[in-house]
Amino acid sequence: MLLSIVAPCFNEEDVLDRFHERLQRLAEELLPLGHDLEFVYVDDGSRDRTLAVLERLAALDARVRYLSFSRNFGKEAALLAGLRHASGDSVVVMDADLQHPPDLVKRMVELRAQGYDQVIARRTRTGDGMARTLAARLYYRLVNRLTDVELVDGVGDFRMMSRRVVDAVLALTEYNRFSKGLFAWVGFPATTFTYENAAREGGRSSWTFRGLLNYGLDGVLSFNNRPLRAALYLGMGLLLCAGVYTGWIVVAALVNGVQTPGYVTIVTAVTGLAGVQMVMLGVIGEYTGRIYYEVKGRPHFLVKASNVHRADRAKDLI
Ligand code: UDP
Ligand code: MG
Repeated sequence: MLLSIVAPCFNEEDVLDRFHERLQRLAEELLPLGHDLEFVYVDDGSRDRTLAVLERLAALDARVRYLSFSRNFGKEAALLAGLRHASGDSVVVMDADLQHPPDLVKRMVELRAQGYDQVIARRTRTGDGMARTLAARLYYRLVNRLTDVELVDGVGDFRMMSRRVVDAVLALTEYNRFSKGLFAWVGFPATTFTYENAAREGGRSSWTFRGLLNYGLDGVLSFNNRPLRAALYLGMGLLLCAGVYTGWIVVAALVNGVQTPGYVTIVTAVTGLAGVQMVMLGVIGEYTGRIYYEVKGRPHFLVKASNVHRADRAKDLI
């Protein structure tokens, strides 16, 4: 049985050596159980010496495959590249910063042997700030109300997948990739276990507040058009209110005669409605923007250097 480890790396020169060492130890432990390992590392256009480290690792360890992007294309693109070039019967996706403990892979192997196609690791939120924990909780409640796929707080990309799950995920060619959601969308028998969250072992997180906000929005908008539907209902509701209110004013004017006061109402109504319209336009614009990106059909990433055989890279532009 071949087991592929896919790890996206962005500015990870500090931890990569340690990461790979841990995985080599893991490989030794898994060998007697009948599992060979291969490593697929994707350098997502790092600005430090990540690529040099990868080249060295590949020279020392024949099981290492690496791809290096021409620039930073984002973790989602790196994951896609890694999955494309993983040839294992099972594939584990994990971060290179050692926040996903390599030892858990053994647990995944056991659970996978019980017949699950996806073995999902769910992290606790220890070490996260209160604000982030709260925001996450609210976010997942909202997302699960708005979309078809069920996302769980603490569940990320760290998981083991069977070949058929990987093939299913690769068959989804959309440009805007929200991997967490895609993994959930493909389905297949899955099981989840919880692990204690660990702090990064070096380097630093590349998430900014804005990045997280945008990522969150992607989650909501990637799966269906329910927000558009919500905008429609809101619009109809407001129209109804406006109709009733207008009727009431007309009747009042007929009964009491025309009275000037009331510009507070007018100002409130005008600004309020303008706001609602802007929001709706924004929602529509978001979807149109997505269509724009899909229609362009650009590649998800460009490869600048790699030790993957050229023939295997037919799908990636070089
Ligand atoms: N990563 C990447 N491209 C990016 C940002 C991050 O490949 O543009 C990788 C990064 O090297 C790490 C993983 O994605 O292996 C998770 O990133 P990070 O640790 O910054 O996120 P966090 O753990 O804070 O969610
Ligand atoms: Mg991290």
